[in-house]
Amino acid sequence: MAKQSVIFPEALALPAIGQGTWYMGEQAHQQRAEVAALQAGIDAGLTLIDTAEMYAEGGAERVVGEAIRGRRDEVFLVSKVYPWNAGGQKAIAACEASLKRLGTDALDLYLLHWRGPFALEETVAAMHTLIQQGKIRRWGVSNLDYDDMQALWQLGAGRECVTDQVLYHLGSRGIEYDLLPWCQQEQIPVMAYCPLAQAGRLRQELMSDPVVKDVAHQHNASVAQVLLAWVISHRGVMAIPKAGSVEHVRENAAALALTLSDEALARLDRAFPAPGRKTPLDVV
Ligand code: NDP
Repeated sequence: MAKQSVIFPEALALPAIGQGTWYMGEQAHQQRAEVAALQAGIDAGLTLIDTAEMYAEGGAERVVGEAIRGRRDEVFLVSKVYPWNAGGQKAIAACEASLKRLGTDALDLYLLHWRGPFALEETVAAMHTLIQQGKIRRWGVSNLDYDDMQALWQLGAGRECVTDQVLYHLGSRGIEYDLLPWCQQEQIPVMAYCPLAQAGRLRQELMSDPVVKDVAHQHNASVAQVLLAWVISHRGVMAIPKAGSVEHVRENAAALALTLSDEALARLDRAFPAPGRKTPLDVV
């Protein structure tokens, strides 16, 4: 059976495929298409939307706000705070600005975008304050590698972190060495960003690889669907592809129903093996 959801703390089941928004809100002439894509995604069950104050400096959050107007309750809304805003009063102000752009009273999940000038304790404290103020429902982190997560776990309240959002796709499997097994052991869901390898040479390599193409052909699926199904075949992992068109978003939603055969998974594993040693966390 295809994996349709990932379980968060409090037995909250979220769709195993959500929607990313990086590069949305940058070009005025594309905004209608972006809103339509996000709405088609919600209709198709991709109800987790990932955004950040960073994306188009608030522009992506405005596009999301437009897309979810009148249907906030259907969506699990995730945004991220810049590292240099991730503590004290700056965090409160950054969150309030995100809420305003998104047209909502509260975020379902707020993430530290990456580690920066604030000590983790300060970020955790700010997240607590935001929860107490009702502005966020839960918090998590992004781009934290295994050692960073151990440091977070040393802080008692650090263990309230509900996810680590990291780069993960068939061509970049470094997290399988230590971070992913640890998250699985601790039952921390992982949100895989760049599940389609975003852009550039590696994406071209994956998209045109004969094994990936053959697996897609065998499963009567597209290469993008194979890449998404591969990501979410891992326990506790969800994927948040960004799609700027209704066509792409529907294709991605259909990947929720795609189960790759054991033979296909083995072929993909041989073609793109995970590194057998520690490698620094891949980031974009
Ligand atoms: P993705 O791997 O999701 O790739 C996005 C690209 O794939 C776009 O060019 C999109 O094109 C294309 N695409 C989408 N669906 C299909 C399809 N079915 N067939 C072919 N091409 C397709 O890269 P992102 O960098 O966008 O990562 C996903 C999300 O993760 C981001 O949008 C963001 O929300 C989050 N992220 C988080 C980071 C962090 O530091 N925490 C860093 C990077 C990303 P088109 O737009 O034309 O549909």
